[in-house]
Amino acid sequence: MEYFRLRGTGVSPGIAVGEIFLKERVIFTTRKEVISKNQITGELDRLGEAFKRTGAQLISLKEEIREKIGDEHAFIFDAHLMILKDKSLSQSMKNIIQDEECRAEWAISQVHEKYAKLFDSIEDEYFRLRQSDVSDVLSKIYLNLKPTKKVEKDDHKEKILVAHDLLPSEAATILSQGKVLAVALEMGGTTSHTAILARSLNVPAVMGVRNITKKVKIGDCLIVDGTDGEVIINPPLAMRKEFSSKKIKYEDYRRELKKTAKLESKTLDGVSFFLLANIELPEEVATAFSMGAEGIGLFRSEFIYLQKSTLPSEEDHFRIYSRIAKKAHPAPVYIRTIDIGGDKNLPQLKIEKEPNPALGLRAIRFSLWDRDLFKIQLRAILRASTLRNVRILIPMITEIEELVELKILYNEVKDDLRSKKIAFDPHVPLGAMIEVPAAAAIADLLVKEVDYLSIGTNDLIQYYLAVDRSNEFVSYLYKPFHPSILRVIKFIIETAQKEGKEITVCGEMAADPLSAIVLLGFGLKRFSMNPIFIPRIKNTLRSVGYKNVQKIVQNAMTIKTAQEVEEYIIEKILVKHPKALLMGQMK
Ligand code: PEP
Ligand code: MG
Repeated sequence: MEYFRLRGTGVSPGIAVGEIFLKERVIFTTRKEVISKNQITGELDRLGEAFKRTGAQLISLKEEIREKIGDEHAFIFDAHLMILKDKSLSQSMKNIIQDEECRAEWAISQVHEKYAKLFDSIEDEYFRLRQSDVSDVLSKIYLNLKPTKKVEKDDHKEKILVAHDLLPSEAATILSQGKVLAVALEMGGTTSHTAILARSLNVPAVMGVRNITKKVKIGDCLIVDGTDGEVIINPPLAMRKEFSSKKIKYEDYRRELKKTAKLESKTLDGVSFFLLANIELPEEVATAFSMGAEGIGLFRSEFIYLQKSTLPSEEDHFRIYSRIAKKAHPAPVYIRTIDIGGDKNLPQLKIEKEPNPALGLRAIRFSLWDRDLFKIQLRAILRASTLRNVRILIPMITEIEELVELKILYNEVKDDLRSKKIAFDPHVPLGAMIEVPAAAAIADLLVKEVDYLSIGTNDLIQYYLAVDRSNEFVSYLYKPFHPSILRVIKFIIETAQKEGKEITVCGEMAADPLSAIVLLGFGLKRFSMNPIFIPRIKNTLRSVGYKNVQKIVQNAMTIKTAQEVEEYIIEKILVKHPKALLMGQMK
């Protein structure tokens, strides 16, 4: 038995040790089987039947998943039904059968290839990963061409699932049975449906593990470490023991953290703070609340564009916003208008390639460029606001003029809804994200134009320090504790508070224990982050005294370098509040 240690991305924390279960994927044909002209109608009928069977299967799968793990995961199947009903999908297959006089298998495989190329050309990982939803539907149609073929029941109970990729519906079906110990995939990443599902069902998962399906054999033993992103094939006994005790430690830690979800969000000296969740899919709402979230602080609405190969309609937007608002009610939901364009270029939006995408037609710039599209989104958000817990958040604001322009559009949309007697909350709060240095410098002017501010530290740091947030060559320069960053964040927080306006941080800084302490020291009370980090931040902030932290951070403001700031704060916090950083160690 060969021993290998492979690295990937840990997308769902936790450790599992067990036997593998290898899941084979659907292989689309590479052989074009030609048919005669008079067989074409029969072949089109065959394809039509496969579509029908797929539709029926998706509906029954949806029901099954709804019963087993709840509404929010059944939603994947709504997305799949939308893909299935997309006319352009079936039409392109029919065209191939007619034009090339070939079998439906070939037509599906060609369409699959076309979509794979289309999605591969997308640079943004999050959007690229949505390819698996289309693949999932196409695989089902493909298998349904031969309906009599018996599908063998997968025996994955108490095993570790290894596969090239796991289609979202497969993930929902397999993981919902509650018997898979862990998942290790060659494809996928943090934002794939499978990763989200694994996190919410508490199944350790590592993705992007190159060639794992070629390295494993039936009967192999595996260790999956979803916390550190590692997979070990046939580990020696000593290593198995080491990981088994790591697993026990991790589970204790998780139990402790879970307990904190129910505790009050108050510092040692009784100052209240609020922890909110950043989400990308409606399915994440339930997990967010189970982790202790007190609202959805950031819904990255650009994900909606991935549900279809064409543009989403107002109804598509509306359905999703309503679902989130209903699920979260009475807690608030901050819907960020699309942050698309630049490197998040989607083919259906036909944006020209830009020489410098990060500085290009992105976020609000794109929305003001394509106003019809923007109005569709604003209308849908307003229509979903009747429960009065919806807020609108505008990304990448650079100047006041943008707010003026968007308010004109916003009022037009409201007037139109009023004239059609469509209900909405007339007081939906409107907020600006501070992500661009120019916006930070005029935070005192901007704040007067909006109801609240939210600091997107991921972009603010990138633009402030001129360091591409996804370029590993310059990542050593990406420093949240750079004195310039500390000064600017302090200024924004104090400015909003002076004006009596709500202020939140929704970038990654809010999810890091040490950074969260610093933000608290600046007077911040609202932190929005990936739901899995909520318990640890709650634990950290509950373990410190607000007044002490304020003093420590105040003193740190005179220090010259990021490293010294960090060392100083760690040292002082460890003396005053040793427990605060303890629980922050494990993911
Ligand atoms: C940010 O920039 O900090 C942010 C929260 O937005 P995103 O990460 O989606 O750009
Ligand atoms: Mg941003």
